[in-house]
Amino acid sequence: MIGVSLSADEQLLYEVIKRETIKNGGVLQSRLREFTELQNYDSRQIARLVLRLVKKGLVRRQPVRQDGRSTYLLEAILSPLHTIRMPIKIENVIAIPCFTCKELERCNEGNYHSPTRCPYLTRFIQTILSRKTSSIHVYY
Ligand code: SF4
Repeated sequence: MIGVSLSADEQLLYEVIKRETIKNGGVLQSRLREFTELQNYDSRQIARLVLRLVKKGLVRRQPVRQDGRSTYLLEAILSPLHTIRMPIKIENVIAIPCFTCKELERCNEGNYHSPTRCPYLTRFIQTILSRKTSSIHVYY
């Protein structure tokens, strides 16, 4: 976040979105008030703060439908320091669940099957992270 100044409220919200992005690939805006850190904010305050983070280029927001209602999927735009570095080896590539997934054709952002909400992909990434092999480095 070099060069971007945030208010205390924006910082708090950004930290929640960042944590959820790293853990789950993002978070629904409609769920934000469920997090203890954000329980003192009402939905309108949260919506305003989200918009500010979007304008500052720290959060990506895309409309999705959840249980028949419109909301947004929020993802923190992580710096390169938050990315996973993984050498490209064929064993790593063929282990990605998408290669054998029968939903691949229908899987897309905003659809029911989506990489940002996929339990198979999440489990795969968590397994890689938990192995902490010498060939995989996670930088924060
Ligand atoms: S993200 Fe999940 S649902 Fe989509 S193709 Fe990959 S494994 Fe299948």
